Amino acid sequence: VQALEIDQVTVRFRDGEGWTYALRDVSLTVAPGEFLAVTGPSGSGKSTLLAVAGLLLTPTEGTVRLAGREVGGATAKTRTDLRRSDIGFVFQQPHLLGSLTALEQLQMVARLDGDRSAATTQHAKDLLEQVGLGSVMHKRPSTLSGGQRQRVGIARALMGDPELLLVDEPTSALDHERGVAIVDLLRTLTHERGLGTLVVTHDLGTLGSDDEVIRLVDGKLAVEEPVD
Ligand code: ADP
Ligand code: ADP
Repeated sequence: VQALEIDQVTVRFRDGEGWTYALRDVSLTVAPGEFLAVTGPSGSGKSTLLAVAGLLLTPTEGTVRLAGREVGGATAKTRTDLRRSDIGFVFQQPHLLGSLTALEQLQMVARLDGDRSAATTQHAKDLLEQVGLGSVMHKRPSTLSGGQRQRVGIARALMGDPELLLVDEPTSALDHERGVAIVDLLRTLTHERGLGTLVVTHDLGTLGSDDEVIRLVDGKLAVEEPVD
């Protein structure tokens, strides 16, 4: 079963008398343990692709399957539930709360669901260890570096043990070296946890030469040459 299957998806918006196409007949799959980078110029459809994969936008045409389940006919409530149970989101900036420690940022995710169990706290600690923050889990964001804050955002996205991780420009607020470290971490987590990971990035220099990269141009998919 694929983590994500997008099949012949088209997204268009009314534009006066005509249409603006954000995606044109896009098909892709992300398998468990697969790390797939998506690049392309501004306006090429990258955000729209993330919104479709994240069940935030229903395509005009085509089908979306999440962990083998077709979501086209799902109600808004079901889509919200699937988003929470099966998808983790990592953003350009992690939007942490200033008053909470790294550990508390993760615990908060569970507490919103009424979960204050010791097992969940242990899960949060394990995730913080896995992203390299074991020694700083009781620190607040203002005392963490940019790279460390992004790691908190990544650990938080994994709290619900998602099948699919959707990542939007994770390195744009970081210098090159820290950006590379974040991409390395995402790739490692993808393999170790058997996640399907889709990373939108314009920052091809942070990718490895073996990474799979696809390119969107004008809403259409093209295969990218490997990065040197
Ligand atoms: P990218 O993330 O690669 O910059 P987007 O997915 O944001 O590209 O946009 C792709 C195209 O779809 C652009 O031409 C954009 O103007 C258009 N578009 C995106 N969202 C909307 C919307 N809600 N209404 C109208 N046009 C949109
Ligand atoms: P920064 O350089 O902004 O402090 P990094 O993203 O480089 O942040 O690293 C954040 C933390 O993760 C640091 O405490 C570092 O020791 C730790 N770290 C970096 N790389 C690894 C790794 N591959 N495995 C485990 N921990 C790591």
